[in-house]
Amino acid sequence: MNAPAGKMTMEQLVSLCKRRGFVFQSSEVYGGIGGFWDYGPLGVELKNNIKRAWWKATVQERTDVVGLDAAIIMNPRAWKASGHIDTFADPMVDCRSCKRRFRTDELPSPESRVCPECGGALTEPRMFNLMFKTFVGPVEDEASVAYLRPETAQGIFVNFDNVLTTTRKKLPFGIAQIGKAFRNEITPGNFIFRDREFEQMELEYFVLPGTDEEWHQRWIDERFNWWLSLGIRRENLHLREHSADELSHYSKRTVDIEYDFPFAGFSEIEGIANRTDFDLARHSEFSGRSLSYFDEPSGEHITPYVIEPSMGVDRCFLTVLIDSYAEEEVRGEKRVLMRLKSELAPVKVAVLPLSRNEKLLPTAERVWELLRPHFMTQFDDAQSIGRRYRRQDEIGTPLCVTVDFETLEDGAVTVRDRDSMEQMRVPVSGLLDALREKLPSL
Ligand code: ATP
Repeated sequence: MNAPAGKMTMEQLVSLCKRRGFVFQSSEVYGGIGGFWDYGPLGVELKNNIKRAWWKATVQERTDVVGLDAAIIMNPRAWKASGHIDTFADPMVDCRSCKRRFRTDELPSPESRVCPECGGALTEPRMFNLMFKTFVGPVEDEASVAYLRPETAQGIFVNFDNVLTTTRKKLPFGIAQIGKAFRNEITPGNFIFRDREFEQMELEYFVLPGTDEEWHQRWIDERFNWWLSLGIRRENLHLREHSADELSHYSKRTVDIEYDFPFAGFSEIEGIANRTDFDLARHSEFSGRSLSYFDEPSGEHITPYVIEPSMGVDRCFLTVLIDSYAEEEVRGEKRVLMRLKSELAPVKVAVLPLSRNEKLLPTAERVWELLRPHFMTQFDDAQSIGRRYRRQDEIGTPLCVTVDFETLEDGAVTVRDRDSMEQMRVPVSGLLDALREKLPSL
């Protein structure tokens, strides 16, 4: 399969991610396990940079949002209150012959009674809950059943009062959280698009009832612009309004941000929902503790409405890699590069001695030492300089610093720019400042 112009195919992506150490199959030596992935040395850098960019825009730069890091396992009553125990399920059928399991909405037609894989007969549809179950404590009975959270949001709702009293925030204000979520997806796939273990970045933004529709629209715009600020191309993004029959049980209106994936077309990367007062009201009801807000101007206790921008880190990772991938022809040779924004690039600066000549290495190592406290760096002295530039281009390193024989004479190095491939001579004494200027977002 050939990628549309400037877009990589899934095969290219998976192979690049493995070859360069972005993403590995989980427990690959045992044959892997479906829906679980490990992030390698470059992957963990990119993932952390994505999380940092979100946290900066959502918490650090705002005055009305604070952070939280809640436990993955909660009192199971929280999931009864949220509706997940009763409704977080997909209808499934099993094949009586080959034993494969399918979501009914994946079958060629809803009334299919024959297995699409082997032609065997299918069972009646049954609801299959997507929450992973476990047991807390030594006894494995019904009373000790607990769940791995399928979304981070509920940890925020149950802490509403704690955060309100400790921060004295006034409406409107938000609580943001980044953390793992788990869903026993029936059909994980498309690489890290649909996983069974993934990470979410969620903001629950509490507002006065009646102002919710306006705030919802503001957050839709805000979040769309955030994706643009990551460098994602506008033509590959669009908004999709949920129709009435697909709205979640808690939602008054939901708009998804979708990205045009080469393997699946436009698909959800973030959902922005107006969750009304559903969650706070339900947790108040089920816990017996009031999760309300005293509104001074009206002199009464109210249950705030909630606007929720919710996105997956892994899907963002996939989007960023696909969107920044480029192939160029340079002097008759193909060059593959990731046009990553410098704040996202796993490696900011590579230090490259022109050769392994023993006269060059100590100087190159000193330059590397100078930069390490300030930037994520790599040192590479294997193979020709041209090949090393290509290797750095492929992982999106914005700048390369080359130490050559002239450096020994004039104390200057060559700084090469990934996108323009322009090179300039910079004295080592001014190198830090010059790099900082070229990496303004750090
Ligand atoms: P989908 O329709 O693709 O299953 P969803 O509507 O169930 O997604 P939400 O519950 O709205 O997803 O979750 C919010 C965000 O979390 C999604 O936009 C997505 O980025 C991420 N996400 C959800 N499920 C997964 C998953 N299985 N793997 C990776 N990311 C996920």
